[in-house]
Amino acid sequence: MQLTEHFTLDEFVTSQTAARAGVPNIPTDADIAALKELCTNVLEPLRQALGKPIVVSSGYRSQTVNSMVGGSKTSDHLYGRAADINCPGMAPVELAKFIIKMNLPFDQVISEYGNWVHVSIPTPKREVLTAIKNGGQTVYMKGL
Ligand SMILES: [Zn+2]
Repeated sequence: MQLTEHFTLDEFVTSQTAARAGVPNIPTDADIAALKELCTNVLEPLRQALGKPIVVSSGYRSQTVNSMVGGSKTSDHLYGRAADINCPGMAPVELAKFIIKMNLPFDQVISEYGNWVHVSIPTPKREVLTAIKNGGQTVYMKGL
């Protein structure tokens, strides 16, 4: 499945760790939608600006795969909202600086161990609140 011009779903779900252990790494429709958002908003514009391929070493991770690779329990990789990337011929820290300079709508850019760049998109808050005045002060309550 093509996500954007230069990125396919395969690149984000292929996991050597999962393959070796015979563990499935299957994203839900919501995860795929998030991966598409990650590509559309960050990776594809980055790819176009660089004019060079971007190699994805880790994209989506199921809970099992994430714990096998020692990922954070709240990792954005669990929701298809992050990718670990490299650009051949470019130092990872330079790639990170390029992303920042482009002002792409990322949530986090992490230079990881000097070996790759972790980039994520923000998780929508979808928070529902009610504002009321209480003694002249605005108070926000959860829900409507
Ligand atoms: Zn990562």
